[in-house]
Amino acid sequence: MKVTDLSEDDLAAIQLELEDYQITHGSLFKIPRTAPDLDEPTVAIARPVGVSLIPTAFPYLQFQHALFTQSIFNELYIKIAEDELWLEGIIHKFQETDPFATILWQIWERVKSDGEAQSVRCGIFRSDYMLHSIHNGGKATIGQKNIGATAELQIKQVEFNTYSCAGASHANIVTNMHRYLGAKGAHRVTEIKSTNLPKNNAIEEIAASLEAAHRIYDQLAETSRKTAILMTVQPENVNICDERPIEYSLSNCDPPIPLYRVEFSNEVMQRCRLGPKRELLFTSPHGDQVFEVSVVYQRAGYDPGEYTPQGIETRYMLEASRAIKCPTILSHISGFKKVQQELTKPGVLERFVSTENAAVLRRTFMPLYTFDASEDGVAARKLALDEKSAPSYILKPSLDGGGHNIYGKDIPGFLAGIPQHAWSRYILMERINAPLTQGVLVSPLMTHRGPVVSELGAIGTCLWRREAGGAGNTEVLRNASSGWTFKTKPSDVDEMSVVKGYGCFDCPLFLDAFTGIPGGT
Ligand code: ADP
Ligand code: MG
Repeated sequence: MKVTDLSEDDLAAIQLELEDYQITHGSLFKIPRTAPDLDEPTVAIARPVGVSLIPTAFPYLQFQHALFTQSIFNELYIKIAEDELWLEGIIHKFQETDPFATILWQIWERVKSDGEAQSVRCGIFRSDYMLHSIHNGGKATIGQKNIGATAELQIKQVEFNTYSCAGASHANIVTNMHRYLGAKGAHRVTEIKSTNLPKNNAIEEIAASLEAAHRIYDQLAETSRKTAILMTVQPENVNICDERPIEYSLSNCDPPIPLYRVEFSNEVMQRCRLGPKRELLFTSPHGDQVFEVSVVYQRAGYDPGEYTPQGIETRYMLEASRAIKCPTILSHISGFKKVQQELTKPGVLERFVSTENAAVLRRTFMPLYTFDASEDGVAARKLALDEKSAPSYILKPSLDGGGHNIYGKDIPGFLAGIPQHAWSRYILMERINAPLTQGVLVSPLMTHRGPVVSELGAIGTCLWRREAGGAGNTEVLRNASSGWTFKTKPSDVDEMSVVKGYGCFDCPLFLDAFTGIPGGT
């Protein structure tokens, strides 16, 4: 049977299978007990995350290329995070218009004047891509069987995330689910077998990178205290099912590694303090035992609203400590969209990676423009203000990430509503011309059957040491491509948000996996 032949009864039967798997395996969002529409429940309440009912077609070669490219992106972002002068040049230009950049940079300057207590750093990154059709005009489609000339599809980077990268556990579980259903033939679609659905070990890979950081801390610190990893989290967290599997996986290490979740910033301030050698000392809630923190794994502290005066002191204490930061504050700043835009300028990639690798990375870039009062910025402003050209662009805040983009035709009206001096906070990105695929999605907000667009996030993990002497030289201790996320949304939706209910976790379906020839059958 083809996807388009599935009846409503077929889909309902698949959904039953899916929801049982999701409930059994923690593919869930936890609803806080304080949610307004809940009547103070005494038991926990959760609901399944939005998922695809049927894995969505994606070309194998482009998928593999994204994973292959990740170790080069890891190398690039390791180098950027150690090139303080280059980063400062970018941040300086934007400090007036972006208070968040200023806050983070000032914390870094305090840490620097104290002298950094730890030279080893850990990164858990995610590079997001969409397929881009290089056809001029019209929408390309990825049909069943006939994948359409996939050679004309390129992966293009949406953004590069360096801080608090989410989704790995959900992606891992949803892939396992589709592979399980595929092996049983439960999707009822002839082409879907577990053999053309890729494996994803993102949870284990992320745990392995945290384990490597923890072990090296133990070796270097020569401490007699017990050590543990600290995961900063936001209060009233709906996403525990994405965070907890990493913690549980660490408990399977030999010997097991304890990880404590601590809310940013109140609880961090209550439970943590710096010792005489700037050890980060954590008092556990279980019997007041004191641990020395080996790794600070940040899953909070990305929202400017978290940086109250206490939030600022909290981030400073964590950064100033001798715990290994995942990631450091400079690595956090490296993930700003303004950095992404600067990297597209001619010759900039070559500052960090070989010419050959620069060419590989550059092929994934869409045109990105500065939006300041410079000559280039003025040219970009013209494109964004013109109602004819605006639909081909997306306006993004240059420095702080998350949910604030302005899409296409909304750009001119948005710009008219804010003072012109604030425009420099933004960058302008050309819209990726994603091919349409047929998909079936279900989330609490919608059931969608029809054209969809997918997004692949290549996860990278790394561990490096800054060498003494201040030249920014690094010794890379680990650099791995570590699984992926795959999310799909209805094609007419601009943003991608599983939490808000219009994006769904999914698993790529390779229709061309076995020929290795793009477009082969
Ligand atoms: P955020 O920091 O909000 O995650 P992103 O750059 O990831 O910002 O953009 C959010 C979403 O908007 C993406 O996940 C993608 O669905 C869509 N998007 C962003 N940039 C583009 C683009 N150039 N072309 C098409 N869609 C885009
Ligand atoms: Mg994003």
